[in-house]
Amino acid sequence: MKQTLNWQIASIKDIKPETANVKSFTLTLPAWMRHRAGQHYDIRLTADDGYQAQRSYSIASEPEREGEVDITVERIADGEVSAYLHDVLIPGDRIEVRGPIGGYFVWEATMLEPLLLIAGGSGVVPLMSMIRHRAAAGAKNLTTLLYSSRNLEDIIYYDQLEKLGAANPGLQIFHTLTRSQPPGWKGYARRIDQTMLKEVAQPLGRSVQVFVCGPTLLVEAVSNVLVKIGIRSDQIRTERFGPTGG
Ligand SMILES: Cc1cc2nc3c(=O)[nH]c(=O)nc-3n(C[C@H](O)[C@H](O)[C@H](O)COP(=O)(O)OP(=O)(O)OC[C@H]3O[C@@H](n4cnc5c(N)ncnc54)[C@H](O)[C@@H]3O)c2cc1C
Repeated sequence: MKQTLNWQIASIKDIKPETANVKSFTLTLPAWMRHRAGQHYDIRLTADDGYQAQRSYSIASEPEREGEVDITVERIADGEVSAYLHDVLIPGDRIEVRGPIGGYFVWEATMLEPLLLIAGGSGVVPLMSMIRHRAAAGAKNLTTLLYSSRNLEDIIYYDQLEKLGAANPGLQIFHTLTRSQPPGWKGYARRIDQTMLKEVAQPLGRSVQVFVCGPTLLVEAVSNVLVKIGIRSDQIRTERFGPTGG
């Protein structure tokens, strides 16, 4: 376990745009360790004068992939670390990381209960790791993703989610777009609310396990409504992405 706390130097193998403000980075890790879907890495940047900034980024890839992980980062305007990762890093660069970290917000394919995954914005990243892990492990548990984005072009992994939904029986993907919807949009078109949560949760039954990740306000609002519709708090795991507090 101690190994997870050691800093190591990762190489940037690949950088891939996901949306206008979001990129995925493939990190090659000399001391790779299999992660659990939902865990994160810490990234530490050190300036020439010794000033350091450190932030957490969830692992987007499945644990079955060896030697490397993907992280997916939203560029926050004036963000110290996310803007550096977006604007400065190029393939071949090296950065300091440590991980995998986290033992609570994790899902293993050996957990057989139905799964409800609820994301806002970049909160979809650790849930994507869970969906990819479910596919790689051939798990068959009913799994539903409810994913809230502002506009169609802000949806991270849209095509990949469509493909995974089509290829994996029992996996359903629901989107809600809160600001604008393209003509003919068939998904939800409002913030996540009680009616929406009932619609997606009820088919999953009483033993459903829920993971909620995204901006603090979304996570708190969704958790409160989940309890109102009868899901016990010990069935709900949450992860808040920001704004950062240190
Ligand atoms: C466990 C964990 C996992 C995370 N995983 C991811 C991930 O997979 N992808 C990802 O993009 N981010 C993720 N985050 C958020 C990430 O750690 C940083 O907080 C984020 O990238 C902003 O850092 P920054 O240095 O760019 O901005 P900062 O310099 O810290 O902040 C700049 C300004 O932006 C505001 N701000 C900070 N964070 C956010 C935010 N998340 N949303 C909106 N405004 C913000 C601040 O209040 C400040 O005004 C995760 C956070 C945690 C705790």
